[in-house]
Amino acid sequence: KDEVDIIQGALELRSKTVGGIMTPIDDCFMINLSSTLDFETMREIMSTGYTRIPVYENERTNIVSILFVKDLAFVDPDDCMALKTVCKFYQHPLNFVFNDTTLDKLLDEFKTGAFHMAIVHKVNNEGPGDPYYEVIGIVTMEDVIEEIIKSEIVDE
Ligand code: ADP
Repeated sequence: KDEVDIIQGALELRSKTVGGIMTPIDDCFMINLSSTLDFETMREIMSTGYTRIPVYENERTNIVSILFVKDLAFVDPDDCMALKTVCKFYQHPLNFVFNDTTLDKLLDEFKTGAFHMAIVHKVNNEGPGDPYYEVIGIVTMEDVIEEIIKSEIVDE
């Protein structure tokens, strides 16, 4: 029965899209690029338990970098270092996917191993202005795996 469910889940990857499984931007834990890595900020980051934290500038939809929690290993909170300095040092690449990308394509990208989190954007052509790319969420390898095995993975 479990095997049947997993195969079923895998077959459905071709008909499901990123938009349906992503974590919406409002639910993302993110950090402002202008932050200082003082004790309180580092404590807050650690307490979320996330591995990767999107970094935004001015608006939450303007993601400019990703902070890996392991980047903080050499940061001393007493130094009150600027987050910008750490982001500039590591320069982890940002990867974007469209909300209508199917999950089999996303899984293929994740399998190449270059990254396991992507920023989800969509073409917004509502309203009178020109269409533009709007960031609407994040998606990780775990979201895809969850879809295959069809049950919430409880993180350590
Ligand atoms: P982690 O390694 O940080 O636990 P996973 O890749 O295992 O992250 O993803 C677990 C779930 O948490 C997924 O649903 C993913 O979309 C979500 N997630 C990952 N990073 C964040 C974040 N910074 N804020 C909110 N949700 C996140």
